[in-house]
Amino acid sequence: MKFFGSGHGACPGCGLPIAVKTVLNVLEGKVFAVNSTGCLEIISSQYGKNAWNVPYIHSLFENAAAVAAGVEAALRAMKRKDEGYVVVFAGDGATADIGIGTLSGAFDRNHDILYICLDNEAYQNTGHQQSGLTPPGESTTTTPAGRVLPGKVGRKKDMISIAVAHGIPYVASSSVGYISDIRRKVKKAVKFEGAKYIQIHSPCVTGWGIDGSLSIKVARLAVETGLYPLVEYEYGKLTSVKKIKDRKPVEEYLKLQRRFRHLFTHERGREMIEVLQKFADENAEKYGLDLRKEE
Ligand code: SF4
Repeated sequence: MKFFGSGHGACPGCGLPIAVKTVLNVLEGKVFAVNSTGCLEIISSQYGKNAWNVPYIHSLFENAAAVAAGVEAALRAMKRKDEGYVVVFAGDGATADIGIGTLSGAFDRNHDILYICLDNEAYQNTGHQQSGLTPPGESTTTTPAGRVLPGKVGRKKDMISIAVAHGIPYVASSSVGYISDIRRKVKKAVKFEGAKYIQIHSPCVTGWGIDGSLSIKVARLAVETGLYPLVEYEYGKLTSVKKIKDRKPVEEYLKLQRRFRHLFTHERGREMIEVLQKFADENAEKYGLDLRKEE
């Protein structure tokens, strides 16, 4: 099983184990893992089963960053920091909603931790309720597409900018569709002393309504349409962007997923698709995503 493996109960095609395995392998298991409540905790640490082969602590939804800060401070006080990296694995709800206060505090104190947000864009373990990182137009159990509303109305919270605004040394976004990108960013992140944040787009096959065999394709389409830009900041400065050759229209990403299916039949569906396309275009403009002929 190496560092994470047999014994986990994730749905086939789930992005979470892919992301976790990649992070732990890059760090060669030299990790003290802190895992907030959420799907990852449910599928990896059930009574009698344990998928973790590194020191592991389960926290509440709201305090993973505070627990990690405590672990890091304790290791520092005991002069045992060289025994491993303190890494948080938390879902989008635990990160952008319930735990954002303790996360902000840990960033503010610049604790030497790596915080990984596994972004599957809703509270999946409790039945697919919307989180702050749910994109507009998604039908969730708390933002169901109905006669009037075409799913969630509003924006996906920009956690990358929020993290950057704290002035921490390293912030990045990545995706399970690009394993080498995750590897490179984790390797680089741990070289910085202080707080690091990486947000990894991780498909949820049940919540998104996709076949498990399509997870990687769908994750890649999120990037190829510009809806999920892969970027990197060091000390607040944008240092790398994954460029896109021939950016695809957002429909190509949306039409593969049940959570957006209503957009193709709903009275206001076209309007919402246009909103999503506008977000993708804004990302392209903000980060310079489009690979121009001369590049
Ligand atoms: S419900 Fe979603 S996030 Fe949870 S294990 Fe299944 S695919 Fe993964």
